[in-house]
Amino acid sequence: MKVRFWGTRGSLPVAPKADAVRDKIAAALVAASGRGFADEADARSFLESELDFAAAHTYGGATSCVEIDVAEGAFIVCDMGSGLREFGLDAMRRCAQQGHAREWHFFLSHLHWDHIMGFPFFVPAFVPGSKIVIHAGHADAEQALRRQQEEISFPVPFDWLKAAIEFRTLEPGREHPIGAVTVSLIEQHHSHSSYGFRFRDREGRVAIYSTDSEHKIDRMEGEADVVAFFADADLVVCDTMYSLADSVSMKEDWGHSSNIVAVDLCHEATAKRLALFHHEPTYSDADIERMHKETIRYEELTRGAAPLEVLCAYDGLVVEL
Ligand SMILES: [Zn+2]
Ligand SMILES: [Zn+2]
Repeated sequence: MKVRFWGTRGSLPVAPKADAVRDKIAAALVAASGRGFADEADARSFLESELDFAAAHTYGGATSCVEIDVAEGAFIVCDMGSGLREFGLDAMRRCAQQGHAREWHFFLSHLHWDHIMGFPFFVPAFVPGSKIVIHAGHADAEQALRRQQEEISFPVPFDWLKAAIEFRTLEPGREHPIGAVTVSLIEQHHSHSSYGFRFRDREGRVAIYSTDSEHKIDRMEGEADVVAFFADADLVVCDTMYSLADSVSMKEDWGHSSNIVAVDLCHEATAKRLALFHHEPTYSDADIERMHKETIRYEELTRGAAPLEVLCAYDGLVVEL
């Protein structure tokens, strides 16, 4: 199973501004002063090995879109944030070049704009012969997707799309065999509710997609259902939008969680890997990397028997399970 991150930002798409790019280049030039490079590959390997991630890269700014690739059957995609546009183009290429089935199964965490805004730009939806199945815990998913393409908001109405599009409401608390995976879902604490998804492939590997979910640090004993849902997962993609300080003070009840709570839940669930996700749009690359390093330190300090590997999701990250 491969998990590909096409969009990892929360709430609103963002892009680094000109001065941010200039400052990264200036810092890299200073770090490289006195060194010569034979070619760009040599320079790239210097950037990879000598500089921090945030100094030489960016976490990206597309909103939530994560692909679960089990190498057979239909495409499996969690959420339709602005990262979906690029995924759609890559999927068309894989259909044309690798003969991939023209079938997409979407799993929607919820219907907030940052999680559905990519769909009007999803090229396969415009192509006859595409089959799209949209799974959600919410019965009003179709209404949300149709509404964002009404004339007042978008020039192309939903009914003009050429793909065969079907909506299925999934019931939490039971397993749904869907193509090459078995999927279950859990209702989460968030405005208008959200759902986390648990995907298990034929080899028994498990990936969890759990975003836009507020866990209360002062009633963690009430989170037993979440711990059971995360149990022994190979990867948990978890909403870690805020630092702990923010999440328990001014941003309490905003419907999101912290890196600290995510580590606690994953430790209790004996999950193997955690990916920090749904990054706050006002955080710079350096802010996100600082939070990643703090999370690694917290994990080491609180670790029980088994280590939890802490990744920080970025647009373009591929995790192999
Ligand atoms: Zn969101
Ligand atoms: Zn939300």
